[in-house]
Amino acid sequence: MKALIFSIISFSFLFSSSFDFKLKPIKLSDNSYYFYGKKEYFSPSNGGDIANCAFIITKKSVILIDTGSSKEYGEQVKKEIRKITSKPIKYIINTHHHPDHFLGNAAFTNSDIYATEFTKNDIEQNGELYIVNLVNLIHDAMDGTRIKAPNQVLTTETLNFDNYKLKVLYMDGHTESDIVIFDENSKILYTSDLIFNKRTLTTPHANIDEWIKSLYQLEKINYSVLVPGHGIASKTKEPIKENIAYLNFLENTLKDSANKGLDIFEILSKPIPKEFEDFAMFKEEFERSIINLYPSYERNVNK
Ligand SMILES: [Zn+2]
Repeated sequence: MKALIFSIISFSFLFSSSFDFKLKPIKLSDNSYYFYGKKEYFSPSNGGDIANCAFIITKKSVILIDTGSSKEYGEQVKKEIRKITSKPIKYIINTHHHPDHFLGNAAFTNSDIYATEFTKNDIEQNGELYIVNLVNLIHDAMDGTRIKAPNQVLTTETLNFDNYKLKVLYMDGHTESDIVIFDENSKILYTSDLIFNKRTLTTPHANIDEWIKSLYQLEKINYSVLVPGHGIASKTKEPIKENIAYLNFLENTLKDSANKGLDIFEILSKPIPKEFEDFAMFKEEFERSIINLYPSYERNVNK
């Protein structure tokens, strides 16, 4: 398997031509910016630019939260940061183990990369499979991407990077381990993929009940701006409320349908509820969630 992975990567490397992500950092505060990812699924035309990442400039260094889905994306993030500051990008935080959030680590050779133990282990164990999967989905944009796993384990509630403090909230629901960063200096909340703004949630590793609990906790935080994992930043609590509503809708649909003995096609033939009509990728993600999650709800009814 390893030989196969190596040959796929080396083969595509021979024909490398770098994908232009046309990145533009969006300013959030005096010292904070984010890069907005498209509300789409991976494709050769978006080069895998589908998730947000963000950076904070401190007195001595730069802190980067997530790194995107390829080495090239990471390189272009670096280039954009360099246009604003020459301070070293010393610290990286990977919010969770999904490949659109950490594969850009490959571009950062001298940074300390932080993640939870669960996320670090998952990246070490499954990282190469994520690469093979993405080579199939976005082709050339993956050129040169190798696994660079986190080298620091997050355990504390507060990070202190060159005297710049960040609060770390350990949550779960989107995956088994999702990190939320609250910057109390700027009151900016980086929610990772616990929040998608106007983009339908992905649930391949989700626990819906835990996710809803995490969202209620996030709702209590007094932030000025929320930076979601996908979708545009928001100054309101709307995205949290909308995601709670969607997860409740998903769970109720799964339970009711199982109780009524519906099959997957009967569930999918129902009209999209009005409140989610403006969510990007509703049809695709709802279908994916039903296919993944429905069998376990059916089994529970049959017990
Ligand atoms: Zn994710």
